[in-house]
Amino acid sequence: MKKIVTDVLIVGTGASGLFAALHLPADRQVLMITKDKAEHSDSFLAQGGICVLRDDSDYDSFMEDTLKAGHYENRRESVDIMIRSSRDIIRELIDRGVDFAHKDGELEYTREGCHSKPRILFHEDITGQEITQKLLDNVRACPNVTILEQMTMLDFIETKNTCLGVTARDESGEHYAIEAQRTILASGGIGGLYTHSTNYPHLTGDALAIAMRHGVALEHIDYIQIHPTTLYSQKPGRRFLISESVRGEGAKLYNAAGERFANEVLPRDVLTDAIKEQMAKDGKPYVWLDMTVLGREVILRHFPHIYEHCLEEGYDVTKDWIPVVPAQHYFMGGIHVDKDSHTTMCALYAVGETSCNGVHGANRLASNSLLESLVFAKRAAEKIGQNTQDGDMALHGEFDRLSDESCSMITAQEEHLAQMYKREVLEEIEREKQAK
Ligand SMILES: Cc1cc2nc3c(=O)[nH]c(=O)nc-3n(C[C@H](O)[C@H](O)[C@H](O)COP(=O)(O)OP(=O)(O)OC[C@H]3O[C@@H](n4cnc5c(N)ncnc54)[C@H](O)[C@@H]3O)c2cc1C
Repeated sequence: MKKIVTDVLIVGTGASGLFAALHLPADRQVLMITKDKAEHSDSFLAQGGICVLRDDSDYDSFMEDTLKAGHYENRRESVDIMIRSSRDIIRELIDRGVDFAHKDGELEYTREGCHSKPRILFHEDITGQEITQKLLDNVRACPNVTILEQMTMLDFIETKNTCLGVTARDESGEHYAIEAQRTILASGGIGGLYTHSTNYPHLTGDALAIAMRHGVALEHIDYIQIHPTTLYSQKPGRRFLISESVRGEGAKLYNAAGERFANEVLPRDVLTDAIKEQMAKDGKPYVWLDMTVLGREVILRHFPHIYEHCLEEGYDVTKDWIPVVPAQHYFMGGIHVDKDSHTTMCALYAVGETSCNGVHGANRLASNSLLESLVFAKRAAEKIGQNTQDGDMALHGEFDRLSDESCSMITAQEEHLAQMYKREVLEEIEREKQAK
């Protein structure tokens, strides 16, 4: 087994991992690992946009919209932090080169389901790609950060509830013991556990399975968001999202008889239930979505990639209705963290979709996740930058012995490890559901 030593290890190169890297002190050596190519993260797939507090007068309604969507199960302190930090985050993104849509020289705001006001910044219908590519470019320019692609975390190396690093495997099957003073899990959601999901299939919740095995607390692991509208297809693989902002801008849903059956901007969970009910009544595996009402100009300007993708699938959304079906989309639960993204294990942080800081409660408000990911990734990095002694450095003397133990466990189970991790997460989700 090869050994790598770094100051901070970040597992995942989506928006949350990249933003954390950018906020760590430049004198720390940072290693980022990712299971796939750096560009293959859900952050690149985000379509609709990113929320921001436009001005102080919107604070109460932004808070209320987030709490209402989350069925008031949100941690209010976390929502407050996210909203109050939002303008600084957007300013920084713009400074780092992110290009949001403008109208008459001013930033343009759109609206999605459950938002009482337009407060979402966007870049066409590829906001995630615009943000994450710019962050990746910024990170690649940092001399203190190294990115290792196709490097999969398989286990934590820990003792006495302190994380000393991780065991990982590269594309060729070689094992690595990565020793780090601090580890940040930024390993995304769990869509890869489901047959129908908008997520990348390699996002299988590995961090959750490993966290459970090492006694790290999870929270609301059964809170899984189903997106009401993905393009219906009989082909296997990732489902293509039809962004909620399409409905926010006025697109309508129809049943098999061509009649409207729901308010299109209901919260995602409520609308998903209404669509599923309608599909059952119609005896069809989809309902219809009519984007034609938006007009050709709005479709081509605001939703050019949805237009292109649907065209490739045989639908011209400026003229045709498209079949849509709900699919797994987002994970509100995750590894329990405090307001600085610290887990219940010393020296271990979790950010982005893998973590649960309570912002989203039982259901995420559209376009809050990129913002939440960035806000709390920055807080994790700043906390680490303060050099808080939340781990016992003397424990690192045991690193080599512990990494040998971890490697033996992996080697013994290697063939089935990925399947075991998947099964353990799904069983825990089921157990949590049954417990309610
Ligand atoms: C189709 C789609 C549209 C969306 N639209 C929006 C939107 O408009 N607005 C919004 O706010 N949010 C949106 N979201 C949600 C948002 O994109 C994600 O919640 C957010 O980007 C998650 O970022 P992340 O950094 O936590 O994870 P990700 O960007 O998913 O990155 C996870 C990283 O972890 C790595 N990883 C995973 N497991 C391992 C392992 N074992 N070892 C090493 N690396 C590992 C992956 O390779 C990847 O690099 C959308 C999501 C999807 C799928």
